[in-house]
Order: sequence, then C-alpha cells, then structure tokens
Amino acid sequence: MSAYHSVVDAIGNTPLIRLTALSEETGCEILGKAEFMNPGQSVKDRAGRQMILEAEARGDLKPGGLIVEGTAGNTGIGLALVASARGYRTVIVIPETQSREKKEMLKLCGAELVEVPVRPFRDPNNYQHVAKRLAEQLAETEPNGVLFADQWNNLDNRKAHYLTTGPEILKQTDGKVDAFICAVGTGGTLAGVSTYLREQKPGIVIGCADPMGAAMANLFTTGEVKATEGGSISEGIGLGRSTPIVEDIKVDHAWSIPDTEALPIIYDLAETEGLLLGGSSAINLAGARRLAKEIGPGHTIVTILCDHGTRYQSKLYNPVFLKSKSLPVPDWLEKETTLKA
Ligand code: PMP
Repeated sequence: MSAYHSVVDAIGNTPLIRLTALSEETGCEILGKAEFMNPGQSVKDRAGRQMILEAEARGDLKPGGLIVEGTAGNTGIGLALVASARGYRTVIVIPETQSREKKEMLKLCGAELVEVPVRPFRDPNNYQHVAKRLAEQLAETEPNGVLFADQWNNLDNRKAHYLTTGPEILKQTDGKVDAFICAVGTGGTLAGVSTYLREQKPGIVIGCADPMGAAMANLFTTGEVKATEGGSISEGIGLGRSTPIVEDIKVDHAWSIPDTEALPIIYDLAETEGLLLGGSSAINLAGARRLAKEIGPGHTIVTILCDHGTRYQSKLYNPVFLKSKSLPVPDWLEKETTLKA
C-alpha cells in the first residue's frame, strides 16, 4: 500500500511544469512549481503544516486547541485543513477585500472567519494586529489554549520551504537549477528556498518579483524600506516592511512589476497551456521573464505557481471586475463558451 496516512502527508511534492511559451520566448527553461496542486490549492499549505507540527513538538498546541491567524486567505486554508485533520479549531482574521472564493473555502475547511476593513499595517486595526489581540483575548477563556500562528514572524514558515520546496526543486531539476525567483507575502517561500539552494549551489541567482505598492524591490536593491507607487490586484503578496523572515535574505535582482505586464502571461497560459493560475503567479512569471533577459538564454529558471485561478473567478477572471480596475480583458474571457443544445 502506498496510501498517505492523512491529507497532511499529501502536502508538497508538487510537480515542476515547463512553461512552453515563456521558455521559447526567452531561450531559458522556465519551470513553474505547481503549488496549486496542494490539497488546499496553494503554496501556503506547506507553511500551515510546518507551523502546526512544530508547535505540537514544542508543546505549544494542546489536543483540541485553537489556532488563530491573520491571513490573506491561503495560510488560513492551509492551517484549517491541517487543523481539522489533527483535531484543532481555527479562527481566521481576513481583510474583507480578499476574494469571495477564498473566504468560502475557509468556511468549508471549518475555519471561523473574522472579516475586517483594510487598514495599513501602522494602523492598530490592521488585520494582523486584530488577529494578535484576538488570540490574546481568546487565550483567557479557551480551555485547551490558543496558538497565534504569526506567519510574518514565525520562522517555521520559512523552514517549511527550506525543508521541502527547496530540496524538491533541486531534485526535480537534477541539480541544474540556475536561478530562482518569486514574490514576497511573508517571504517564507523566497527565504526558505533561496537559503537552501544557496547552500547547495553557491552560484545560484536569486530574484524577487514585487507587485507595485510593495517595498521588497527597494529593500533588496537599495536596503531602504520604501514602497513603490501604485497597487496590484494580486492577493497574498506585497510586503511593506522588513521582518525576521526577510531581513537577512540575499537577493541578486529585484523588480517592481506592474499588473499590466504580469496578467497577460496567465491569461495566455489559461488559453494555450491549460494552466489556470492566481495573480501572484502572474507576478512571479513576469519576474522569471525579466530574470531570463538579465542572465541570458540557456539557463534553467524556477518560479512558483502559488495558487489556483478558481480562487479568483470573481476577480481576475471576471470582465466586469477587470474593467472596473481599468485592466484589459483577454478576448477569450469575453467569448460566449456555452453551446446551446
Ligand atoms: N501567493 C499567494 C496567492 C499567497 O497567498 C502567498 C502568501 N500570502 C504568497 C504568494 C507568498 O508566499 P510567502 O508568504 O511564502 O511569501
């Protein structure tokens, strides 16, 4: 029998998929790690699992305990899945602007949702601060204790990628990976993967693809924590401050990438390569293309396909939403595709 013990063991070991059009355009092998194939359909299942298993091992999480987290959604889904499988409950604080599909999925995974208005991080009512306060309050009455997962400061988040995503990429490329690039939400993926790959291949090139309005591109190029102008419809990425996870990452190239450059890549992938992806994957792929131009043809570049496009049907794949943001709508999205019998 090769059955997994539970869904928790089904997290990770995702395929690496060659992106045909981008590889042909750049002369590099551009490979995407298909993280949308995790049980919760995103890269954050890995962090959810690691944070829970490490807390259990430290004795910070007791049977029947409650897990509280502030999240754009995907970490919450990863935490809730693993929590259900291991006998915990979850309370998730989420900004109300996040996609309806993520909120519905969270509820289906058994999480209790607290939706809060969007506020900047410096505001005490930012969702991350609300989550921390709520965890402290609930700890006073919860009989089995409360774990505040705290993904921005929790180094187990980055460890998930050091222990799994990084080694998988090295093995799946037979050690031939020349460069890795991805965006930063908490930075767990970029920090964990890049630390592992640099140890194994000191010459590896590491890149950061930042959405507009975030501060990582400036942090990694000038050392200054300064957000760029503008914004992005991508969700789950775009960090505006330095944290224990990102403060010591060494990045060779970093770019702020506009949605108008990134989104056409995933619309083309949906139409011609059978891949339906979210907005952060678009930023990552645009970053991989810039990195290919930077280091030249003949290299193998890996990036992350962070989550599944069905999570954004009402936004990224909705012409009405795109027009409301003055973003171009791909032709195929407006075509009538239902045949009448
Ligand atoms: N893409 C999506 C869709 C996400 O939800 C996240 C995490 N918030 C990321 C990318 C970034 O992952 P990390 O937190 O490891 O930087």
